[in-house]
Amino acid sequence: MGDEEVKNDALQIIGMFQLLPRLVVFDLDYTLWPFYCDCVSKREMPSLFPQAKGILYALKEKGIDMAIASRSPTSDIAKTFIDQLNIKPMFVAQEIYASRTNKTDHFQRIHTRTGIPFNSMLFFDDEDRNIQSVSKMGVTSILVDNGVNLGALRQGLTEFSQNASRSEKNKQSWQKYSQNSNSSGKKDED
Ligand SMILES: [Mg+2]
Repeated sequence: MGDEEVKNDALQIIGMFQLLPRLVVFDLDYTLWPFYCDCVSKREMPSLFPQAKGILYALKEKGIDMAIASRSPTSDIAKTFIDQLNIKPMFVAQEIYASRTNKTDHFQRIHTRTGIPFNSMLFFDDEDRNIQSVSKMGVTSILVDNGVNLGALRQGLTEFSQNASRSEKNKQSWQKYSQNSNSSGKKDED
């Protein structure tokens, strides 16, 4: 499957959803590319997982922002690879640094930089501890086991829209509740 074919399939998948994330955040190692970049030489020519580029293009075309959250200890190599792969202009934020936290710092910074609320973000990563900690912040977080691919994209958008419609319902019932308690004694019209 070429990049163009993947992109068209990804566009179709994205088109199936009404509630979309405003920002999609990707880990690098074993999520966008199939290696740990602290284990390879800067001189090597990197490549992405086969469906990753087509998915990035589709999200870009739909006007969905993208960012990187990576705990790589060799951020210089990671940044060189992103340059070589010609995907640097795709990202509104690149948080790449070693840290003790499971990416919560990365997400705080992405939030500060973009102003996008956590519940409008979708995150892909191959490590469960990152998924656990970031999902607690309110980000829809998807564990990938074979890199970002069309299946992971579909799963991510499905879970995102479920979370979004759940919080929309909660908001509505809260508004209804507070309206009712404000209009004390007045009977509901319907
Ligand atoms: Mg990783």
